[in-house]
Amino acid sequence: MIQLIRGFKDILPGEVELWQFIEKQTTSLFEDFGFKDIRIPIVERTELFSRSIGEETDIVEKEMYTFPDRKGDLITLRPEATASIVRSYIQHRLYAADPVQKLYTIGPMFRRERPQKGRYRQFYQIDAEVFGVSSPLMDAQIMFMLMTLFTRLSVTDCTAKINSLGCPDCRPAFTAGLSQLLSEKAGALCEDCTRRSARNPLRVLDCKVPACKAAMADAPSILDYLCPDCRSHFDSVMRHLTLLGVSFELDKRLVRGLDYYTRTAFEIQTTLLGAQSAIAGGGRYDGLVKALGGPDIPAIGFAIGVDRLAEIAARSHPDLSRKPKLFIAALGETSQTLAFEWVSKLASAGIHAEMDMAGRSLKSQMKQADRLGAEHVLIAGDTELEKGQVLLRDMVTKEQVPVPVNDLVEAMRSRFA
Ligand code: AMP
Repeated sequence: MIQLIRGFKDILPGEVELWQFIEKQTTSLFEDFGFKDIRIPIVERTELFSRSIGEETDIVEKEMYTFPDRKGDLITLRPEATASIVRSYIQHRLYAADPVQKLYTIGPMFRRERPQKGRYRQFYQIDAEVFGVSSPLMDAQIMFMLMTLFTRLSVTDCTAKINSLGCPDCRPAFTAGLSQLLSEKAGALCEDCTRRSARNPLRVLDCKVPACKAAMADAPSILDYLCPDCRSHFDSVMRHLTLLGVSFELDKRLVRGLDYYTRTAFEIQTTLLGAQSAIAGGGRYDGLVKALGGPDIPAIGFAIGVDRLAEIAARSHPDLSRKPKLFIAALGETSQTLAFEWVSKLASAGIHAEMDMAGRSLKSQMKQADRLGAEHVLIAGDTELEKGQVLLRDMVTKEQVPVPVNDLVEAMRSRFA
């Protein structure tokens, strides 16, 4: 038998209802905040990701699914959504009508990471991006929106960590100080960090290897290096988060893996998932639209890991699978034809009804109704049908009442709709 590829997974009925619920809650909430759905391709030119995510990142260095297509062009399965949304914003000149665009998308991403619990090679993200707003009010508002979604999904055991990464004016002074420290600690760092030290020193700050953590314990805080504009931006974000009742912690080591982030960076962490504690991350990337060939337009966004979110949400939503309202138990050919007609018409009228098409005994049909979790069973036996009626049985109270067969579909519809 052919098995699925390591790091990939199926989302089966029973589990998928929770995913649908998460998607519905997301769509409805995000649209109330003025976001619009955007659908972007799964595959893009490799260059889009190497330029926007940065050559010196784990994603681009070792995790992308990249292959030549039949003409030899290098293409990549998207490892995240931001780059594609920015490309789309620039390509279709969405800024021409209005630079302010609030966009979201939900879908699969691909990274060739080492698979483990909470970490897959195909995983799903809910991604939201806002273009054209530089105000710190937007930083606070999207974090509020994110936390509101988690609350709606009863995912409350999580902490928002925030930091500021400064801007191209103030970050270099910090990076220079950090590089100095890194050269002093050179022998103590892991292989990846030794390589990163020269070209992406910020990344060393969030390395999870204990030796690197120890070496970085007394690293300076970037918050001490912020220029007045970045400082007042960050203070304003924190003030407005407090105003909206969003609690957060400062985390000077939070840097995010991607090169294009400026100013606000945040991550939502939970203690419920073991090692893979991040359920969402985001921040400002004021320089990316320009870097990818568009106008100089600021932007901010975030991505939520749906696999991890669903795993936590499952604890408070054990069973969301839909049960039929009605099972129609038929006995004999006439009654089966009637059941067939009723079930089909009920479904098309928005009432989920089921029947047995194999002509089984009443006993086994009742068992089937039970297994499906039907709330009611309509028993269409010959004796009742001769009287022009069927029996409606409540599967919880076991009460049975006769119902006329005339206008049965309409009667059931008004009862159950
Ligand atoms: P990132 O795009 O790396 O900032 O990731 C945003 C969120 O996506 C993370 O907080 C995780 O919840 C989720 N995520 C990232 N990589 C994976 C993965 N390999 N498997 C499952 N979820 C992931």
